[in-house]
Amino acid sequence: MIIAVDGPAAAGKGTLARRLAEHYGLAYVDTGLLYRAVGLSVLRAGGDPSDAAAASSAARALDLDQLEDPALRGDEAAQAASQVAASPEVRAALLDVQRRLAANPPPGTSGVVLDGRDIGTVVCPDSDVKIFVTASLEARAERRLKELRQRGLESIRSRVLQDMKERDARDRERAVAPLVPASDAFMLDTTGLDAEAAFQAAVDHIASRTD
Ligand code: C5P
Repeated sequence: MIIAVDGPAAAGKGTLARRLAEHYGLAYVDTGLLYRAVGLSVLRAGGDPSDAAAASSAARALDLDQLEDPALRGDEAAQAASQVAASPEVRAALLDVQRRLAANPPPGTSGVVLDGRDIGTVVCPDSDVKIFVTASLEARAERRLKELRQRGLESIRSRVLQDMKERDARDRERAVAPLVPASDAFMLDTTGLDAEAAFQAAVDHIASRTD
């Protein structure tokens, strides 16, 4: 079973995808981490993440052990990720990695939940279930601010909002695999929902498809 969970930053995809994975006995793959690892590796080499050549050589050299690095969770890695993600060579290199992960669920699991931007449209267009998670920009910025503060990082609301707007624009406007819902995706707006209500809505949708 493959479940695709796509949507913009801080819409609640990660929490939902993890809960669905646990509920259905599936593995969870956070595909954003792959882009973050490529972005961070360019930054650490002193390069510019918007330089396509540097980004594609970092993508080809990606080692899945890099995904454990806690620095990947930071905003610097997020911004660098959305820059390397515009490169068609980077996307092609990571497409193979993601499809391999989707096709080879670890022992003891019966499939994979992939969380990303283009899972339902490009990576696994034949997914059994596609969910596109959205929320208003303000709600997403508020959630991100709360999350950063919980991690002890003092952040300014206007800065978080601005970073999110920039990342949204880059993700939506890039030429290759832009952030758009698949035509057959279930649209889940979490603006007024907590994690439990979002999970219930997704489970109800999945049940309605398999009944
Ligand atoms: O999901 P996360 O915020 O970790 O993703 C970081 C960035 O990686 C996104 O802003 C997007 O530019 C890129 N990304 C992507 N395709 C994916 C997952 C992430 O382009 N499937």
